[in-house]
Amino acid sequence: LLAALADQAAVAIERIRLTTEMDAARLAAETERLRSALLSSLSHDLKTPLASITGAATSLRQYGELYDAAAREELAATIQGEGERLSRFVANLLDMTRLKAGGIVLKREPVDLSEAVGAALQRIQGLLGEHRVVVNLPADLPMLDLDVVLFEQVLVNLLDNAAKYSPPGSWIAISAAGDRRKVELTVSDEGPGIPAEELERVFEMFHRVNKGDRQRAGTGLGLSICRGFVEVLGGTIRAAIRTDRSGAVFTITFPEAVFTVMPREDAAE
Ligand code: ADP
Repeated sequence: LLAALADQAAVAIERIRLTTEMDAARLAAETERLRSALLSSLSHDLKTPLASITGAATSLRQYGELYDAAAREELAATIQGEGERLSRFVANLLDMTRLKAGGIVLKREPVDLSEAVGAALQRIQGLLGEHRVVVNLPADLPMLDLDVVLFEQVLVNLLDNAAKYSPPGSWIAISAAGDRRKVELTVSDEGPGIPAEELERVFEMFHRVNKGDRQRAGTGLGLSICRGFVEVLGGTIRAAIRTDRSGAVFTITFPEAVFTVMPREDAAE
């Protein structure tokens, strides 16, 4: 019996060793995949705006006097816009690095959703262009125990995408609903939406649905940061397709565990 047990133990140990080795190999492969994805994303996402900035600055310096005021303004706007894009990219990379390193120390405080939405809108005003934004938040939503910096970053990333991937002049809607158990906040747009088979994948690092879309150069990091931040805060985030018309819908759900004051048991549904 002892010998049989010892045999079984040896088999089990061998299995654990193999699994660990396989996990290590899988981990190494995944690290390598992320590293090369990071490098190619970095070179594309840094090179494109840098080329625009250098080109516009060179034109201004060499031929500035040949241009009229409107053309000079356009070149200056390119430099500013691309510079801002670079800043967002670097900020996203830093966020992701902090998230991956587990280095995020939460500073939770009671957050009023409408204030956070207002602050996020303020921050990305310049990126909304001709989009029209409609905010529809019930007045009686519970306060949430969140880190407002992270939460606003999530909203900024979602609004940035909504503006980036939908036509100028279309609507972006921010709405919320809550009951005793959860609060749901949605950001929806009137763009082309996200194909059903991509709804989960868009949250992966560096995943972009339309990689060749240089016009809307992005990092493929925004949504993975959104998911990372929302989960750190105790919520969930998912993407869906609008049913009423075309467009993407992102829904953030916070359970009652992050309500600042636990709802009373006898409160109405
Ligand atoms: P980025 O926008 O920098 O590419 P994200 O992680 O924010 O990276 O988004 C990943 C991909 O998901 C985008 O490249 C785009 O293809 C798709 N996507 C995100 N938001 C929307 C949206 N509102 N409408 C359509 N597609 C979207």
